[in-house]
Amino acid sequence: MFMSDAATRLCTNCGLCCNGVLFDLVRLQPQDSVQELARLGMKLRRKKTQPWFPQPCQFLKNCTCTIYEHRPTRCRLFECHQLKRLRSGQTQEEDVLQMIAKAKALVAELEAFLPDEDPATQSISLEERVKAAFDETTASDVKQLHLQLKRLLDREFRLLD
Ligand code: SF4
Ligand code: SF4
Repeated sequence: MFMSDAATRLCTNCGLCCNGVLFDLVRLQPQDSVQELARLGMKLRRKKTQPWFPQPCQFLKNCTCTIYEHRPTRCRLFECHQLKRLRSGQTQEEDVLQMIAKAKALVAELEAFLPDEDPATQSISLEERVKAAFDETTASDVKQLHLQLKRLLDREFRLLD
């Protein structure tokens, strides 16, 4: 993510791209040092040969990346749709803050219908928690809330171009 002063203020109020709301996992890239990240304590997993780590990220504390100078490539390059729009002058910092607050409010509303996260499975993204909790008995208005949040995240944060 790019780090202007405005982006720093926004990201440290947000954390949605690190806390398991936007993504389930982050894949390391060939230029990332597995040894260095492991030395920092990153709990890496592997699928075939490609290492990855789950979200919520273990290094996110108080909306801040605690290994910022050593964060992996995907983390360095990622810029959500809100930050892209801010950079190109299509939106203002205040509006982005409001969008972040709106997304977080929907997340909180949805989480009220999910069981508390099991400490044994703390690295579970919001989508995985929804998948585990929802079934045919889930009320339609709760499913609707989930859909509303997904659409907002896709349109306002995940959209990359
Ligand atoms: S989702 Fe966007 S605003 Fe939020 S922390 Fe990530 S890059 Fe920053
Ligand atoms: S390493 Fe830092 S930037 Fe990357 S997901 Fe974790 S907290 Fe976010």
